[in-house]
Amino acid sequence: MTKIGLEIHCQLTKLESKLFCSCKADYRGFEPNTNICPVCVGLPGSLPRLNKKAIEKATVIAMALNCQTPPKIAFFRKNYFYPDLPKNFQITQLNIYGPTSIGQEGKISVEGKEIRIRRIQLEEDPGRLIYEGSSERTQITLVDYNRAGTPLVEIVTEPDFENPKQVRLFLNILSDLLENLGVSDPSLEGAMRADANVSIEGGSKVEIKNINSFYDLEKALHFELTRQQSLAERKIEIIQETRHWDDKRKITISARSKEEEEDYRYFLEGDIPWVVIDPQIISRLKKDMPESISSKRERYIKDFGISSQVADVLSSDKFYSDLFEQAHDQKNAKEIANFITTDLMGFVDTKEKRKESKLTAKHLADLANAIIENKITRNSSKNVLQTIVKSGKSVSQLISELDLGHVSDEVELSKVIDEVLKDESKAVEEAKQKPETINYLVGKVMKKTKGKADATLTLNLLKKKLSK
Ligand SMILES: [Zn+2]
Repeated sequence: MTKIGLEIHCQLTKLESKLFCSCKADYRGFEPNTNICPVCVGLPGSLPRLNKKAIEKATVIAMALNCQTPPKIAFFRKNYFYPDLPKNFQITQLNIYGPTSIGQEGKISVEGKEIRIRRIQLEEDPGRLIYEGSSERTQITLVDYNRAGTPLVEIVTEPDFENPKQVRLFLNILSDLLENLGVSDPSLEGAMRADANVSIEGGSKVEIKNINSFYDLEKALHFELTRQQSLAERKIEIIQETRHWDDKRKITISARSKEEEEDYRYFLEGDIPWVVIDPQIISRLKKDMPESISSKRERYIKDFGISSQVADVLSSDKFYSDLFEQAHDQKNAKEIANFITTDLMGFVDTKEKRKESKLTAKHLADLANAIIENKITRNSSKNVLQTIVKSGKSVSQLISELDLGHVSDEVELSKVIDEVLKDESKAVEEAKQKPETINYLVGKVMKKTKGKADATLTLNLLKKKLSK
């Protein structure tokens, strides 16, 4: 049986400062080695000061993943030598004296399959190595410590995944969940990284590291499963090892034999005392926790009659659900939900476009109300929406500027229809024989009125005129 487990590293990108010093947690955009201090580059004599907010955010993640949170937590030193680790040890967590990492024994459901979370721990991110050319052939390696000490949450699952697709779905769910909690922006480069361990029936566990994107992770898993199956068929032993994903050749390559936990010579971090997690803090965090994606989804369906498909999309994306929450009232909720998921998503489909968009919740509400009150057709609203995203102009201004006023005046519409009937004599005959072809004529009326005609009224008038 195929068994896949994950180790996911998520940066707490919404925090102000690093885990043990006051340098910025958001290290992006700095010149190399300028977001550093004696603590995060490990200068002798410097002492770590634990970021309380990081503990809170990590606890919120643990609770959202249905983990148990211990009454007190401890930090450990994981010793290893690598140029991106200036102290030569990483401050992390370990459950050697009982459960002392920030969360354990959680679970999350992926299409009905339960994935168990073994442990969640809070730790610091190392610095970054930058290679000139590929990492194997490079002559020069540069090191940037701006990232060193950034708060990181490691989520370790049990090997419960049976195939790469489940892994992808899980990571999507997790990424939405972290964003919804307001603890991380997973779309930032390097904010969410995953390593995997893979084994097939009778084989040893192989760890795959160095994977840059979820898309690559799925590919790497497919490659690795095929490789292991092919070895097994030829009765060649699958050895326990770490393999790196080679992004260019799209294969995994053997990196080194796997270290055992003992190799790291873990010991308690003497510069940080055990931290007692006050039950009052837990209940406050629980109370302040944002509504979960699944509860939002159910509420949208139940309270507003939104279809489950639309509710799925809307609830799982924080950007859209925040917009929806601010814009809707009981009357226009369904219209706004449809707007966001059918039209708006096409206009602001990237992070940059979302940032540049001038659309506000009020725009959405005004536009939905204009449709409900028959001031504009659903058809032309798409245009208005697109213009708002670019210009930020008000709905009423655009309706008059773009000459989009709704044609619902029977006399006016009747004139247009008569012209269409005159021009389309062949289609008129056909519609008389086969009433279902009437939509062609409705389309012609819409075209002539630039989409401004009231669709129901058009259809009724057409039917009346054709039956004469
Ligand atoms: Zn620092």
